[in-house]
Amino acid sequence: MIAGIELGGTKTVVAIGDNDGSLGEQFRFPTTTPGETLGQAVEWVLDQGLIDSLGIAAFGPVGINREATSYGKMLPTPKEGWSDFDLLALLSKELPDAPIILETDVNAAVLAEVTMGAATGCSNVAYITIGTGIGGGLIVDGNILHGSLHSEFGHLNVPRHPDDDFAGLCPYHSTCLEGLASGPAISKRWGTPGHKLPADHPAWDMEAWYLAQGTLSLLAIASPSRVIIGGGASQAEGFHDKVEAHLRRLSAGYFSTLEENQPYVVPPSLEQDAGIQGALLLASRASIAEG
Ligand code: ZN
Repeated sequence: MIAGIELGGTKTVVAIGDNDGSLGEQFRFPTTTPGETLGQAVEWVLDQGLIDSLGIAAFGPVGINREATSYGKMLPTPKEGWSDFDLLALLSKELPDAPIILETDVNAAVLAEVTMGAATGCSNVAYITIGTGIGGGLIVDGNILHGSLHSEFGHLNVPRHPDDDFAGLCPYHSTCLEGLASGPAISKRWGTPGHKLPADHPAWDMEAWYLAQGTLSLLAIASPSRVIIGGGASQAEGFHDKVEAHLRRLSAGYFSTLEENQPYVVPPSLEQDAGIQGALLLASRASIAEG
């Protein structure tokens, strides 16, 4: 038996599964303080029995580079009480016999989509999630890409839409992709939360234009053969087609990757379960590595 924890900014999911990564029982609860949240997760896991390994899919920023001193710790975050919290130290103390693999929630989600979801069989995939912020995960040549930290697609610099005079929301860059296209940016620009805007509202064409600009940069740098866009603000009807149409226009026929792969911009297929499913796949990798 293996276990996974999806540590989200507002909710946490913990699950057990089989060594092949398949999902079993799960338990969801609100994320509170780090001690209380992980304590609850560990208690639930221990109640299920002995586990071989644990995978964690955590909200970021989080140290996932094994060479860095920040490995296993939460990095500075506006979420109160979480900055510098050492996730791995606590979990290895509570579960001393289980190897633990830590990833960001979006990297875990893209791993799940590649293994059993919307990008099954693809070796080069990007996953963009639009929520309170904009997160990104990348699989390149079959491996989750880390770099010295992890991808931060949300903070890509994007051109401003010609009809947009919104000041942007990112506290660091104002008008990065996240500053212009996150859920809160949509709400603030249009004075209405995204889920209340009809599918034919101009907000969605502008949102798709910004996502296409970000995707164009990913295409130029990492050349994914498929791009998955998920999260609340991606659920407006026809949204993925809009992003793809803008992207094709912007790329002007230059990128053969785009020409060869249609459709290119797709929704996730595992929906709510992608993060926890990814955490279990990480655990199954740890269990294979140990075995
Ligand atoms: Zn930013």
